[in-house]
Amino acid sequence: MDDQGIDLLLLSLGADLPWLTGYEAMPLERPTVLVVPREAQATLVVPALEAPRVVDEPSLFSLRPWREGEDAVALIATLAGSASSIAVSDRMWASLLIGIQSALPADRYLPASRVTGPIRAIKDDLEIAALCAAGAAADRVATALLRGEIALIGRQEREVSQEISDRLRQEGHSRVNFAIVGSGPNAASPHHEPAERRIGRSETVVCDFGGTLSLDGDLGYCSDITRTIVTGPPSNELVEMYAVLERAQADAVESVTVGASCSSIDAAGRSVIDAAGYGAYFIHRIGHGIGIEEHEDPYMVEGNTTKLVSGHAFSIEPGIYLPGRMGARLEDIVVAHQGGTIRCNNVAHGLSVVEA
Ligand code: ZN
Ligand code: ZN
Ligand code: ZN
Repeated sequence: MDDQGIDLLLLSLGADLPWLTGYEAMPLERPTVLVVPREAQATLVVPALEAPRVVDEPSLFSLRPWREGEDAVALIATLAGSASSIAVSDRMWASLLIGIQSALPADRYLPASRVTGPIRAIKDDLEIAALCAAGAAADRVATALLRGEIALIGRQEREVSQEISDRLRQEGHSRVNFAIVGSGPNAASPHHEPAERRIGRSETVVCDFGGTLSLDGDLGYCSDITRTIVTGPPSNELVEMYAVLERAQADAVESVTVGASCSSIDAAGRSVIDAAGYGAYFIHRIGHGIGIEEHEDPYMVEGNTTKLVSGHAFSIEPGIYLPGRMGARLEDIVVAHQGGTIRCNNVAHGLSVVEA
């Protein structure tokens, strides 16, 4: 906050509040806000009926429950004092922010991620261990998929998605965040919503899934892996396309070193795909940071000059999508580390032919 001249941090919904305090605000209309002045003690303003959920941390913050009928925004404004530069949770509800802005006319309002993002992005050893435990659990599900233990042909995408979700829970995830299954032409839609389509033979099936796994009651860290399967002998076109994708992903992982810029990681993979003539079909950044949220800083994207430091954890997930026809994506989580890049996923990368 000092570095950026921010006087006050107001945290409500989103991951910053649980990351700092262990308490997650209920996503309801009654305001919960941790008021963090740059110099003074922090105060958690919480609806009185939700105060019993808070585990008291007197050394971190004092608790100020507000009663039904009390004006929570006026209370927050009183605790805020005369801040001129205020950072608010990226996911604070607009209705609350509008109220706060009229009660606290500051010179500037900023997203809290300006303060918290760079700190949260750097994982300590316990966090890296938690990410690798989540990755290993997701790997076991991916391995079942590649071995043909999860039937594909003739099943609906949503049935396969459900089975992947069930297996993620069986492998220790407390929550499933997503389980994308995109088959045939749907594989060309990177964030496809699995639905009724039945998976056919000799189709590409993009499976991208992840959840949250807690070790020893921690907040829970995320897994996120993508593998592409083909349900029968692949065409020459697919074999060539996939070879490009696999090399792009490997080169991008290889380029991860402490001190490299985030944009250079994207470029290392993208240049392979561009050179092979598929550049127009790789329509997203190559990766995102991961931690207690499935997407967080740092983003591996053109223009991000942030330099990797030891502890930055992120995905590397190039994809090639031919609209209306087919697609493929390959994703692992890695951690930049002074002792050498740590890989949280260790499942085979080749095109997997599964006739099941
Ligand atoms: Zn995605
Ligand atoms: Zn993913
Ligand atoms: Zn991802």
